Amino acid sequence: MMFEDTHDEHVLLTPGPTPIHPRAQKALIRSMLGHMDPEVFALNSEIQRDLREMYGTEPEGFTALLAGTGSLGMEAGFANLVEAGDEVLVCANGSFGRRMAEMAARYGAKVRLVTAPLGEAIKPADVAAHLDDDISMVAVVHGETSTGVLNPVPEIAELVRGSGALLTVDAVTTAGMEPFHMQQWGVDYAYTGAQKCLSAPPGLAPVAISERAFSRFAARRTQTPLWYCDFEGLRDYWVNHTYHHTVPVNLHFAFHAALRAALEEGLEARQARVRLMGRVIERTLAPLGFSHYVRRPEDRLPTVLALRLPEGFDDAGLRQALRQREISVTGGLGPTAGVIWRLGLMGESARPGPYHRLMTELEDLLG
Ligand code: PLP
Repeated sequence: MMFEDTHDEHVLLTPGPTPIHPRAQKALIRSMLGHMDPEVFALNSEIQRDLREMYGTEPEGFTALLAGTGSLGMEAGFANLVEAGDEVLVCANGSFGRRMAEMAARYGAKVRLVTAPLGEAIKPADVAAHLDDDISMVAVVHGETSTGVLNPVPEIAELVRGSGALLTVDAVTTAGMEPFHMQQWGVDYAYTGAQKCLSAPPGLAPVAISERAFSRFAARRTQTPLWYCDFEGLRDYWVNHTYHHTVPVNLHFAFHAALRAALEEGLEARQARVRLMGRVIERTLAPLGFSHYVRRPEDRLPTVLALRLPEGFDDAGLRQALRQREISVTGGLGPTAGVIWRLGLMGESARPGPYHRLMTELEDLLG
């Protein structure tokens, strides 16, 4: 297949990346500035302020962008906050929880797992049962994209608050579209990916780091093995404005525009929008035989709608036919392949227009 620039009308309904916000798209092509220019530091400080609002870590929490995708956000947490031999409790009820466990292990952690069956949320009581004085960090994915499950982060955070452990939260499918209150909950490290709920281009991982996490970092016995995202280097650039590496300035332009647009819309308005869209889609698809994969309503992740396919449904064939009509829909992963569709409702995909296109084409194909 040759790449042809004919995708202006392509509809992305995947669990990321999401369609770029028009304001971000415009900002992306602004003339280049240098990463050490005062205008860029002014832009960065607006991004930091807006990220504080998004993560709920006002007025003084530390926020920044890492030059990489959500996985770099994940990796930076373990690289900076874990040392060989540390005991880390990872909540793993899907692919991204397992990715956290693998990363923690690569940085030398002794990993203990709290699991739940696929399609079910982690039970806080199971976390409590594993939490003891030896645990130095608890890590949990807020929205498990692989199954469309929302894990009970506030309840888990309450348990962790009373222990000496740090709490790392993967907010990749939640921050900017779901309630997230870092300070109030007592989260120490959170990250997302620019291409998810904010509809900015991929390539940036917005992170928030608590003072407790910085203290843990300062007390390390060894240097972090990941130079690129060393917390000190990060603070040097974002706070002291000294060179660490060349940040992708054009991506910062676009991210700034997308995040501004999100906050102008309002975080609560976005939460209401995703819920309304979810209800409309599930009601429209129910008569075709689609049903919720996640059984308990309170375990359902609003931003990734996991729907069980109707009996005898040609999953691969239909997604291929939709693809030819410029609509991307994502199926299941591993054990849920051929069993579910995962419809993205993050950022600009949670709009009536793109889903109207899907319904029209589906009706035609199934007709
Ligand atoms: N964590 C979660 C919950 C995700 O959904 C994803 C990507 O889909 C990631 C981490 C990894 O993000 P990226 O693909 O941007 O590296």
